[in-house]
Amino acid sequence: MIITVLTLFPQQVKNFMNVSVIGNAIQKGIIDLRCVDIRDFSVLPHRKVDDTLYGGGKGMLLACDPVFQAWKHAVNESCTKPRTIYLTPKGCVLNQSIVSELSKHEHIVFICGHYEGIDQRVIDRITDEEISIGDYVLTGGEVAACVVIDAVSRMIDGVLPDASAFEKESHMTGMLESPHYTKPDVWEGMPVPEVLKNGNHAKIEKWRESEGIYETYKKRPDLFHALPVSAEQWQHIIQREINDREGDAK
Ligand code: SAM
Repeated sequence: MIITVLTLFPQQVKNFMNVSVIGNAIQKGIIDLRCVDIRDFSVLPHRKVDDTLYGGGKGMLLACDPVFQAWKHAVNESCTKPRTIYLTPKGCVLNQSIVSELSKHEHIVFICGHYEGIDQRVIDRITDEEISIGDYVLTGGEVAACVVIDAVSRMIDGVLPDASAFEKESHMTGMLESPHYTKPDVWEGMPVPEVLKNGNHAKIEKWRESEGIYETYKKRPDLFHALPVSAEQWQHIIQREINDREGDAK
């Protein structure tokens, strides 16, 4: 997959992406990350790319032309028509189903705004989609682009050991994942749940499913409402609630 980031701060994106799992995927060529400096497309002295707002108001805005030229450069380098995404707090809030959809594209161009953002005319002209990473305002789109790229990249074939590494993770099926444990068997008086140690994979699977549903019930009632819950899983929830209350009472 080709990922192009149009930004005023290419180094910020490169520094963030060139480590760990995604860094390895870039090194192996599974992800082709291209950072394009919007300032390289300025025709003004001092590589200026921004200007004051029409109508008044504080701050500066990225002008149309450098963004447009940077985008044309990215598109000309591509064999296919890339999907163009503007990162903005006004966009559709990112979730796992948007991530899954994006992972199917061959080439994505991310546009990072800065200061007050970008002149609306170029956004209207070149973007296919606007994405936000949450209902708050960042100083620039770079961190947001890195978040989206990280989430999308790990769904690309070859980035994780195999698809089973993410298929059962939180949000993949509309619920949260069950808790996990590693050695030691008992830590600070807290034992690992017995079911995970008996080697009965069918039982373990069932327990994980019920615990995932319980996590969702406790932490994300908004997601829980949409889940199909069997009588047995309700029983598990009730039992866990009783155990938790007894634990609190001690
Ligand atoms: N004036 C804009 C507004 O109120 O909607 C905010 C501009 S923000 C300071 C500068 C840039 O950061 C934006 O153009 C966008 O690219 C990026 N940005 C800020 N918050 C974001 C968010 N929640 N999700 C994605 N991008 C964000």
